[in-house]
Amino acid sequence: MKEGMIGLEVHVYLVSKEKLFCKCKAVREKGTPPNKYICPICTGQPGAKPMLPNKSAVEKCVKIALMLNCEIEKKLNWQRKHYDWPDLPKGYQNTISGKGVTLGRNGNFFGVRVRGVHLEEDPAAWDPLTGRVDYNRSGLPLVEIITEPDFSTAEQVRDWLGKLLWYLQYLRVIGKDAGLKADVNVNIPEKTERVEVKNLNSIENIARAIEYELERQAREGSNRETRRFDEHKGKTIPMREKEQAQDYRFITDPDLPPILLTDSFVRKVKASLPETPEEKLNKLVKHYHIDEKNAEILARNIELVEFFEELAQKVNPQFALPWVTIELLRHLNYHKTTLAECEIKVEHFARLLELVQNKTITPLKAKEILNKFYPKSFYVEGDEESARVDDAAKIREWCEEVVKENNDVVAKYKSGEEKAINFLIGEVMKKSGKRADFKVVREVLKELLEQ
Ligand SMILES: [Zn+2]
Repeated sequence: MKEGMIGLEVHVYLVSKEKLFCKCKAVREKGTPPNKYICPICTGQPGAKPMLPNKSAVEKCVKIALMLNCEIEKKLNWQRKHYDWPDLPKGYQNTISGKGVTLGRNGNFFGVRVRGVHLEEDPAAWDPLTGRVDYNRSGLPLVEIITEPDFSTAEQVRDWLGKLLWYLQYLRVIGKDAGLKADVNVNIPEKTERVEVKNLNSIENIARAIEYELERQAREGSNRETRRFDEHKGKTIPMREKEQAQDYRFITDPDLPPILLTDSFVRKVKASLPETPEEKLNKLVKHYHIDEKNAEILARNIELVEFFEELAQKVNPQFALPWVTIELLRHLNYHKTTLAECEIKVEHFARLLELVQNKTITPLKAKEILNKFYPKSFYVEGDEESARVDDAAKIREWCEEVVKENNDVVAKYKSGEEKAINFLIGEVMKKSGKRADFKVVREVLKELLEQ
């Protein structure tokens, strides 16, 4: 693997109800009609002035800076960052960044130094093919995280970004789709000049661009320049010179007063930081005695792990584990949904497991009921209709019917194909409405087949 000196500028969208400087709804979902959530402020109309910034976005940005172990700047000055582009009708972007201006500085996250954490507004989306501009995005709160060039391989960058997104999810400051965007700086120390690759939009593309750039620089050297990544060709390409000019003419925005953060506010935010993924993993292993592999599956998903922890208050965690990591996940995948989106109440799930545990219903029946927990769960009665049957006489009736109806399979079994019994068990389970006790079915069938 090629080595070099790599630094990142990462952007993520904050989850937010409103935009940063107006009350427009913050919506980023694909398929939203263009320009649905706009007003004179976020479309930059003449005379429109920003409202005071969205407090919760500022607080979330402070959380992120603290998570990255940054020092927090107590006086935040909004800057105008000027550039000309069709996505920016005001001619400038409002940002807490620029020369010497930041919200968090001198941080460190998993051994990588964090130079700065900034809060800024997103520009609109401009389609160069049609010339149309969609302002739904304009004014959404974005956080920028800038690292020192402490990475030496694409693999390190990939791991670090994976951790970053994981930790941010635990803070509940980013959505399912954080809309990660990044610029990367790459050079080979003492050999090549620093190249900036702009507008990378996934961890995968970031890693590919870095690998390509390290290889290219080792082969042909480099000038100090800005490039972009063509993801189809897997290559970086020089940007036009005009796009490279970077004099943003930062000035303090006269329309926005500085934000003053008090020590007690910062202390309060720090105290409110939730458990980190690492702390959660430790707890799963030590407190709930979950093996590392399953602990990892649970901890990967903050909603899942919180569901599990709540469930573990009501049901034995060891018993509950496969029902969460296998059955519940299968259920969610099947319905292409997430725990946050579909309504499964912990009480209802716990009740279902309780019925399995006290043998009122069979595990198979429970799985069938779980399938009906979409879009909403419900209290399971555990009545006669779903009750487990372990009465050998009743089961024998079903088994005899199945044996009669499946002569060919019976013949296979008798000729030594032992696995054929599984098909017959399945048929008996079907006949019983998934209520027959699996073990009894197997025993009775064996007995019948060996007669
Ligand atoms: Zn607006």
